[in-house]
Amino acid sequence: MAKKETTYTPMMQQYLEIKKDYADAIVFFRLGDFYEMFFEDAIIASKTLEIALTGRDAGAEERVPMCGVPHHAVIPYAQKLIQNGFKIAIVEQVTEPGNGLVKREVVKLITPGMIMDEGILNARTFNYIGGIVRDEAHFNLAYADLSTGDLSVLLELGEDELIQEIVRLDLKEVVLESHENRLMAKLDKLVLLSSTDHILKHALNESLNPKAQKASGLLLNYLKETQRNDLEQFNEIKVLEKNSYLKLDSHSRLSLELTDTYSHHKGSTLIEVLDHCVTALGSRLIRKFMDEPSKEQNVIEKRFDVIEAMQSSMVSLHQLKEALKGVYDLRRITTRIATKNANGKDLAQLRQTLSRVPEIKHALSQFNHPLLDTYNDEIYDLNDLYTLLESAIEAEPPLTLKEGGLIKLGYDAYLDELKNASSDGKAWMVQFESKEKERTGIKNLKIGYNRVFGYYIEVTKGSLDLVKEEFGYQRKQTLSGAERFITEELKEKETFILSAGEKEVALEYELFLRIRDMVSKETKNLQILSDQIAFIDAMSNLALVSKKNRYVRPTFTNTRSVSIKNGRHPVVEQSIKGDFVQNDIVIDDKGILLITGPNMSGKSTYMRMFAQHVVMAQMGSFIPADSAELPLFDQIFTRIGASDDLSLGQSTFMVEMLETNDAIKHATDQSLLIFDEIGRGTATYDGMALAQAIIEYVHEKIKCITLFSTHYHELTVLETSLKRLKNIHVMAAEEKRTIVFLHKIKEGPTDKSYGINVAELAKLPKPLIRRAEEILNHLEKDKKQTALLNLFNFDEVDDLTYVSLKEETVLNELKDLNINELSPIEALLLLKKLQEDLK
Ligand code: ADP
Repeated sequence: MAKKETTYTPMMQQYLEIKKDYADAIVFFRLGDFYEMFFEDAIIASKTLEIALTGRDAGAEERVPMCGVPHHAVIPYAQKLIQNGFKIAIVEQVTEPGNGLVKREVVKLITPGMIMDEGILNARTFNYIGGIVRDEAHFNLAYADLSTGDLSVLLELGEDELIQEIVRLDLKEVVLESHENRLMAKLDKLVLLSSTDHILKHALNESLNPKAQKASGLLLNYLKETQRNDLEQFNEIKVLEKNSYLKLDSHSRLSLELTDTYSHHKGSTLIEVLDHCVTALGSRLIRKFMDEPSKEQNVIEKRFDVIEAMQSSMVSLHQLKEALKGVYDLRRITTRIATKNANGKDLAQLRQTLSRVPEIKHALSQFNHPLLDTYNDEIYDLNDLYTLLESAIEAEPPLTLKEGGLIKLGYDAYLDELKNASSDGKAWMVQFESKEKERTGIKNLKIGYNRVFGYYIEVTKGSLDLVKEEFGYQRKQTLSGAERFITEELKEKETFILSAGEKEVALEYELFLRIRDMVSKETKNLQILSDQIAFIDAMSNLALVSKKNRYVRPTFTNTRSVSIKNGRHPVVEQSIKGDFVQNDIVIDDKGILLITGPNMSGKSTYMRMFAQHVVMAQMGSFIPADSAELPLFDQIFTRIGASDDLSLGQSTFMVEMLETNDAIKHATDQSLLIFDEIGRGTATYDGMALAQAIIEYVHEKIKCITLFSTHYHELTVLETSLKRLKNIHVMAAEEKRTIVFLHKIKEGPTDKSYGINVAELAKLPKPLIRRAEEILNHLEKDKKQTALLNLFNFDEVDDLTYVSLKEETVLNELKDLNINELSPIEALLLLKKLQEDLK
């Protein structure tokens, strides 16, 4: 028997019709004072939000699963779902309730990439959503922060580069064209995906080149469709060159502990040492500096100049810091104003922020420094805007727009009349109460008001006998202990007061919208001001942190050599106050430092210290040392510690080799390579052979500055054959059989590895330690000098180009092909297939 078709109620049919278009989102369906969720959405949401799952009769045999959240308290619920990676489609009633079904529509889609709400966003980081459009062999990536109005495009990325950028920018969501199935499958685990197909032509992107236009057009289309507004917060699109900044892949960023660490420990990242900005604007800029360290010497030197200028007067610097206090997140407030989401509190915060600008300008002028004067001259103070807000907006306006309390007395004459009418009304009530007490002789008579019944005269049960006919009291409401009455006179006054009150609230709302519109005309200027304040805050922060921590201005060399005197690790020196052992870093032109020393002596710390110096210098910060000369780098590659990706089923050694391969394949002579104990994950001779071959390859082929730590002290003989390799070691001393780590770097190789001493420190059983010493003595007696092979000539081997398995298959197919047997069409089809295979 055929199953009976379910006929749902009209409302449920309306729901299902909407849900059809938002299958991948949780639909918040407005029903009166609640947002309700149904079916699968209700099951998921009730679990995630820990709220009750109920059911609703909807015409079907079984009740439909349902759960709901109150509309006035929706934010925390939405926030929790978004944080769990869900999208939410908000469905509102768009017609007034009357006869028949109320019309409902999706008014907004909220996804992790589209949050604008202050309570949900992290003030100190960006919240980006990306849009990707493929263009022949490359990908073009547009990314935007809806809450700040920042929008940029990165062009011509390879697939690996695209993935690196998604991770680096920490994209919360990525929009693709719906036919990009293969890419979707690849990115699915990495980031939340959405799709759209139309490329929007917009005033913003019409003058861009076609690639940038397409990528930004796809993203803008998605934003416009889902936000249902005109994207007023965006004023420009920045088209960025992909290699314009110092490149670090996501592993290197984590192992160098820049903004996060593998263990996500607090207190161990460079950003925590460097970011003490007063404003969220400044913090986001410092983070951007660190995420995109510059390669342009003039950009960096300009930042150094500003730091130096600011350090010229510590008194003024402290004044400037003070002036920045009380500046709110101007960029995000401006967005809320431009997109008509701002409330009274936002305008009050804008006023407060604008009130700080003259102080900031004054503090800048106190330095009496020509460079800071030029920056100062460029800052708008937007005084007219401040005057408008100061005269119009109440000191502490409420969050709501429709309950009054927004507009100051004196701003609008008619509003003042209405306000006076209602306050006169209140005074009248007081008089009326005493008049009635006198007239009736009822001493405890009271005049009161509530929303449902309006004004009333309340007489307690005990005094009811005293109410006489001639008073003209009409019964209005009965309570357990009292009766409430109304009189003609009170009724008249009530109409007058209430209508004045209603008019007042409506007029305040209207005036507020008008003021907000006036302010939104200044969106562009407010964004410029935000960026100027961000720069001043970020630079004064670097100036102060550099002074406090005794950092020095680095000098860039034209050769590939380094000379850092008494360098310190910026993060470790903070955590072990006073006890940090400073070390020089001296590297000759294109040199390799081979670092030996016992475990735990400080080899990784030394290498990380140098990498962090490079990042700091290129972001425009001074660095922890007494003096520093170093070249500019294009990329940093690191292979530090075990970052096993067990989820991908890769062993430590495999990860080590993959990362090494990546470094060797992409490094140039301007790069920095940091290799920590390569080859440790396999058998000794295996590992040592690989380590030696890698060093030789870097020395002969790549010729870039390299720090290579190893516990194979046999490798130190390489110094005799590789002319740009230098041995250094971390000193350790043996005192009464115990090893003491001195953390001091010395020239030359280490004499022994102290492995047994470290084992003893770790309290391995004494007899075991004695036995190990015995074996070691025996081995050392027998030790043959490690045979150092003649230097391999990498140039004589022509097969040094790297070919992936995929490429190899395609090449073989091409090689085996008999062209004479192919028709032109077949050849074309084959060509297409081969090209597909390569993608
Ligand atoms: P290795 O790489 O040689 O095994 P690490 O670099 O991990 O050693 O250093 C081990 C510990 O020694 C670090 O946790 C750090 O606290 C300390 N350390 C390293 N270098 C220094 C230094 N220059 N001054 C003071 N302590 C240091």
